[in-house]
Amino acid sequence: MGASANQLLATTDPVIANALAGEKQRQQDQIELIASENIVSKRVLEALGHEINNKTLEGYPGNRFHGGGEFVDIIENTAIDRAKELFGAKYVNVQPHSGTQANQAVFFALLKPGDKVLSLDLAAGGHLSHGAKPNLSGRWFESHHYLVDRDTGLMDYDAIADQALLIQPKLLIAGGSAYPREIDCARLAQIARSVGACFLVDMAHVAGLVAAGVYPSPLPHADLVTCTTTKTLRGPRGGLILSSKDGFSKKLQSAIFPGVQGSLHSNVLAAKAVCLGEALQPSFRAYGRQVVTNGRILAKSLIDKGIKIVSGGTDSHMVLLDLSPLGLKGRDAELALASANITCNKNPIPFDTPKPSDWVGLRLGVAAATTRGLDQLAISVLGNTIAELLIARSENQLDQVSNEHKAIVKQICDDNPV
Ligand SMILES: *Cc1c(COP(=O)(O)O)cnc(C)c1O
Repeated sequence: MGASANQLLATTDPVIANALAGEKQRQQDQIELIASENIVSKRVLEALGHEINNKTLEGYPGNRFHGGGEFVDIIENTAIDRAKELFGAKYVNVQPHSGTQANQAVFFALLKPGDKVLSLDLAAGGHLSHGAKPNLSGRWFESHHYLVDRDTGLMDYDAIADQALLIQPKLLIAGGSAYPREIDCARLAQIARSVGACFLVDMAHVAGLVAAGVYPSPLPHADLVTCTTTKTLRGPRGGLILSSKDGFSKKLQSAIFPGVQGSLHSNVLAAKAVCLGEALQPSFRAYGRQVVTNGRILAKSLIDKGIKIVSGGTDSHMVLLDLSPLGLKGRDAELALASANITCNKNPIPFDTPKPSDWVGLRLGVAAATTRGLDQLAISVLGNTIAELLIARSENQLDQVSNEHKAIVKQICDDNPV
């Protein structure tokens, strides 16, 4: 099916066909360590490329604004049921077009412009959509941020409790894009309750690990949970809103539609249902265990070579490197790894400068590499390779090692086809 669609483009739209072919080859030839990426199954791709894309619908199953929705209703209800089973949720909305829009809908449902929000600081690993200044959430709401402990890199719950008492936020948010450790959601829920705030956990990065039972679920503690279906959940680009409580259902339904979105993305709903079905299989638990193991092995192999890791390790798929002892910027490190076909991204570390070109962090994640089959041994080889590339770059000797390391990466890619 995919092949015939590609052939059609090859003869009629070579510009796009060639770019698509190039991207597919890139995914085979490079080791993907961008923590927010993964490699979805052919089944997810089949759903995404299906003619159901043509169907326009607004509203919810049984209450649509257009006719002909009987098959999309089956798909949306199935996606909801699977998400409820997977996460133990009472309420699920599968329509958010992205993680950012899921969060926007929560803000729209719970807050009025100017209301106070307390969330993790961006440099400490927070997300733009949690009240950062350049985002709508930071422009229209009064946002405050908590930091992590300067020495340990860990969240300081006593400090958060003090700050919450002082600020009296309407909404307390946990979760982020570069915080690699477990979060004590029971403690944060208690802090939120003590100041009468709602408690939102954005589990975008770890949703798949929660689904696999290898990372603690925030569902029992949070009023609301948002996530993406990309990243560790290994599904299409899109978002979810979940709750273990009934109380917010009505507000959230209308916050997504007609609040911040119009018609749903029928093909993406189908792909979400497929990925949630996959995540319910025992093999997904095995995948989650391997991801967490690989994360630890990556951290350990880097630490053994003298690389500094923020918080000293990881409880997830993600490792955050502090490059300052090497005298490197994240930007240089990203290029050094790219010279051996390893893809990753520069990132701020806690208390870093706001200027991206001066950030001294590098974020690595093993979700995609684990999907393509890298085991502990391959990950430790990769960890050593990364450490050597970074050290060589800091000593201006990258030219000497990068060809040799390119060959190591090529071998790993050949052994683990995408
Ligand atoms: C990735 C991410 C999002 C945003 O998801 P998009 O689908 O890219 O909008 C939101 N919150 C957190 C914590 C994330 O890591």
